[in-house]
Amino acid sequence: MAKLYTFPGGLKLEGHKAISTNQPISKANIPDRLFVPLNQNIGSPAECIVEKGQRVLKGQMIGRVTDYVAVPVHAPSSGTVIDIQKFPAAHASGLPSDVIIIEPDGKDEWLERKPLPDITELDPSELRNMIRCAGIVGLGGAAFPTFIKLNPVGHQIKTLILNGAECEPYISCDDMLMRERPHEIIDGAKIMRHALNAASVIIAVEDNKPEAIASLQTLVNDLDWMEVQSIPAIYPTGGERQLVKVLTGKDVPSQGLPLDLDLVVSNVATAAAVHHALDHQQPLISRIITVTGSGVSSPRNIEALIGTPMSDLIEMAGGYTEDADRLIMGGPMMGITLKTDATPVVKASNCLLVQTPADHATEAICRPCIRCGECVKVCPVKLLPQQLYWFSQAKNLDGLQTHHLFDCIECGCCSVVCPSHIPLVQYFRYGKSESWKKEQETIKSDRARERTEARTKRLERIKAEKKAQHAARAKKTATASNDRQKEIQAAVARTKAKKAESSSGIDSLNT
Ligand code: SF4
Ligand code: SF4
Repeated sequence: MAKLYTFPGGLKLEGHKAISTNQPISKANIPDRLFVPLNQNIGSPAECIVEKGQRVLKGQMIGRVTDYVAVPVHAPSSGTVIDIQKFPAAHASGLPSDVIIIEPDGKDEWLERKPLPDITELDPSELRNMIRCAGIVGLGGAAFPTFIKLNPVGHQIKTLILNGAECEPYISCDDMLMRERPHEIIDGAKIMRHALNAASVIIAVEDNKPEAIASLQTLVNDLDWMEVQSIPAIYPTGGERQLVKVLTGKDVPSQGLPLDLDLVVSNVATAAAVHHALDHQQPLISRIITVTGSGVSSPRNIEALIGTPMSDLIEMAGGYTEDADRLIMGGPMMGITLKTDATPVVKASNCLLVQTPADHATEAICRPCIRCGECVKVCPVKLLPQQLYWFSQAKNLDGLQTHHLFDCIECGCCSVVCPSHIPLVQYFRYGKSESWKKEQETIKSDRARERTEARTKRLERIKAEKKAQHAARAKKTATASNDRQKEIQAAVARTKAKKAESSSGIDSLNT
């Protein structure tokens, strides 16, 4: 067994995972309406390329990319586009986003798919392009375009780390995928390794998932470049930086990436999506989502089409319990609260957690900070949460910057241990959004100043050019006038000479 390391802080949390892993993954029916958001990845949203009334086939591209950090979106089933409009989005901002609404025809008719050649014969850049065209993003919740991760410009990748830690309480979709469909992950890992030209692959799984570890292990026994690594279940060991630290003992630099250590980290479900895209020509149109919590009657994992309303999944999971009062997309530590269950499943939806008042009873009793320092002890990135809290309250954005707010992974450990029940992460999210806003305003005003300076310079240049043209014209006119004068003078001189010549002739005749 390889040597493992520890990261600072972290917490042993109650998993609450067994409630959703006691039955196999269920498959959701095609819903009456599919609500496919155009913005499902970090970066730029896709641009709609279909019209109201148009028939679309399953897997057909309906939103194309207009930027580098972007992936397309595809129709999850065949049917008719009945509208393109703003709709509640599964996003921290809660703002509505552009959504293509499809009325499925029930035929689930695929767009024609052509078989691909052996992936080992394909160039890594071709593989990356296919992965991009399939709309694949990180399925661990980050939704970062996978083709960019697989393009390690200037780096020789030593190891591709597949993250199967799934350390946040309640979430079990990766666990169930590893248990039931390990071959999808292994096949995807082979493709990703080829795209990266990586020497080895490690699949890291927390030791509280013995079934998943056993299931993967049987498939990697014969592969000398791939291993399954059991790691201690300590939250947030599934964070990219924490996982790298546990496996290698190395620290990803502040504001840096695992790539700086010649490593790439990707989620196990992303590897399975790569397998579907390259081995079966299926773009990312569905995912497994955990529907769980004390507010739902029969928690489970469901494979659902992207665009399926969350309300359909709640129904499949036995409906709400009487006291259900809060919906969270993601886990209790890092998830975002949803305003409505009409919100559709998106590529980043790994969990729908339904809570009851008992789950968030401490929120109502937030008290002042007593400077106990408990939050500092558990921070996995060695920040000073208490200090960041003061800076956030005071809107001291410079203080937040100098205390490395942007290294905060929003794990929530500090909030959990705070005896004053201060919702610290909410303050940090607010601090980040204010800092981004300020940065955007600075960029905007810098651009406006640059535009004004460029305009002034352009006007000055035009003025100088006009002046030069004017001077050149004046000089030309003066020269022309001089030449004309000379010509006149020469003509006068010639006339005078002629006259003098003819009068001397007459004189000689008269003598
Ligand atoms: S844990 Fe809470 S009360 Fe203690 S120092 Fe941190 S913010 Fe203050
Ligand atoms: S939320 Fe941020 S500040 Fe709090 S423990 Fe996690 S990383 Fe540290």
